[in-house]
Parts: sequence; C-alpha cells; structure tokens
Amino acid sequence: MIKTCEICGNEFEINSKQKYCPVCKERVVTEYEKILTRQRKKSTECLICGASMENSHSMHACSPKCQKILNALTAEFRKKRYADRRAKKSMPHYRKNGKKMSRLGRHIEEARAMGMQYGEYMGWRYMQKKQENQTMAD
Ligand SMILES: [Zn+2]
Ligand SMILES: [Zn+2]
Repeated sequence: MIKTCEICGNEFEINSKQKYCPVCKERVVTEYEKILTRQRKKSTECLICGASMENSHSMHACSPKCQKILNALTAEFRKKRYADRRAKKSMPHYRKNGKKMSRLGRHIEEARAMGMQYGEYMGWRYMQKKQENQTMAD
C-alpha cells in the first residue's frame, strides 16, 4: 500500500504499519548510531525534522512529537544495542545498570552463583584463606 512519510512527506510503498519511508528511517538510525557511538558530536539540529534545537533539553529531537518518531525509528536499534551491552556486562560483579557492585554485593552474588548462603560462603572463604596461609607457612 502507498503511504505518505510523516517525516519527509514523500510517498512510499510498504506492507507494514510503518509510517516513515525507508530513506528517513535509514538516515535517522544512521545519524543516531553515529552520535551514540561518538563518531560525531551531538547534533544541534533535530534528527527528525532538522529544526534547530539549541534551546532544547532533549538529546536528539526538537519536540515531543519528533522524540516519539525518533523512539519509534530507533527502537530496534536500541534493543539490539542494549542486548549487546547486557551480554558484555553479564559478569557477576556488574549490575544491570552497569554500576559496580559493592564488595558485599559481589560476595552475595558469588555465594549465589555457588549455591551457598552468604554466611556459608564467607565461612568457606575463611577456610580457603586459612588453608592458603597454612600452605604458605609450610
Ligand atoms: Zn521520509
Ligand atoms: Zn524536530
């Protein structure tokens, strides 16, 4: 079916619910990716309509309307990026938000990974340390 792109106003043919033409989508996602990966500076122009956003507090769009379009266009990309980052940060001492855990948090996490209660785990650690020290003393 023929649709009119809500960004550039050109007509395009598509068989899904997509409201934006492939050209606009490609352009916006590419620009957005460049900014996120720091290949270029944050734009002072709206990624969607090109309006100046010097006075905007938003990151990449000039208005809530453009922001909504941007969100729709970059949803796939952000999902993928988020999954990649999560995979990288699946180390036990990282939380989902990427912040480093406290020492206690790390111990609890390690205990859980070994199927122990925190108390048990600390006892086990203590024994390990003790054994190590003994070996060294010998
Ligand atoms: Zn378009
Ligand atoms: Zn805009």
